Amino acid sequence: AKDQGKNRFMIFENRMHEQLLNRLDQEARLRDAVHRGELRLHLQPVVGVPDGRMHGVEALVRWQDPERGLQQPGTFIPLAEETGMIVEIDRWILREACHTVRQWQQHSPQTAPDWVSVNLSAAHLELADLTGQVAYALAATGLSPHCLVLELTETVLMRDLAVTAARLQELRDLGVRIAIDDFGTGYSSLGYLRDIPVDVLKIDRSFITGLVGNGRQQELVSAVIQLGHTLGLRVVAEGIEDADQLALLTVMGCKFAQGYHLGRPEAVGALYERRQKETAT
Ligand code: C2E
Ligand code: CA
Ligand code: CA
Ligand code: CA
Repeated sequence: AKDQGKNRFMIFENRMHEQLLNRLDQEARLRDAVHRGELRLHLQPVVGVPDGRMHGVEALVRWQDPERGLQQPGTFIPLAEETGMIVEIDRWILREACHTVRQWQQHSPQTAPDWVSVNLSAAHLELADLTGQVAYALAATGLSPHCLVLELTETVLMRDLAVTAARLQELRDLGVRIAIDDFGTGYSSLGYLRDIPVDVLKIDRSFITGLVGNGRQQELVSAVIQLGHTLGLRVVAEGIEDADQLALLTVMGCKFAQGYHLGRPEAVGALYERRQKETAT
């Protein structure tokens, strides 16, 4: 019995060891991903309600891992945040998104999105030269500041409200817009609306899931939409997965929506081609 316990411990220890090696291995490969050109920009449409037109796009990162194939952010963003690599990833996505949308607007203005929104991590927001970095990305690519939205989650905003508010005002002075992402999931959503200069409010998917058939949730979402509009904000509902949810949001006066029902995130080339075909017919 004593031996058995010892064996079990060794198995446990081996597994820990294996997990650690896996992690170190992934970390090493992720570290090189940017220089090796393994990151991919995917874009998801943000659609007007009820016109159904694509007005904007959200930039979402993917990693073409040579060993594991195309990786979704959930599998590597947490590690990237822990190790600080997220700053480099976000900088790449920012630059790539600005470049892509600017090129698209120049070559095919009728099918191009009016704006692109880019996610910023907490580490990035705390970077001293964030404003300079954003200004540089705009200048280098020629994208108009009015075409760029920076998305921040409430958890990111929570860090140091005074510092954050000042930093965001710098960015807005450039002409860039600020969005609160995953709105409603934090602890002080209304506090952020009071203290942080924002332009866009993105209602979290968790408020859209289960919307149909839940009167209380409908009242809540409807009130948030009205509140946003009263404050002069653009309100985007996230995670629309079916026509019934869209119909409800239309009745509530929601003007912008994003979700699998309206378009999945896809590679730039694929979205571009589809838009050309749609507009041609
Ligand atoms: P997010 O910013 O809230 O992005 C929306 C996520 O919801 C995306 O997942 C998108 O694919 C997914 N989504 C969109 N519509 C639907 C829908 O109808 N149903 C469902 N179930 N999901 C939908 P994705 O691309 O896996 O990204 C996950 C998260 O990773 C993002 O959440 C964001 O927080 C983070 N992320 C993605 N790209 C970047 C990036 O470049 N930088 C940083 N810092 N974070 C990123
Ligand atoms: Ca987002
Ligand atoms: Ca979101
Ligand atoms: Ca999220």
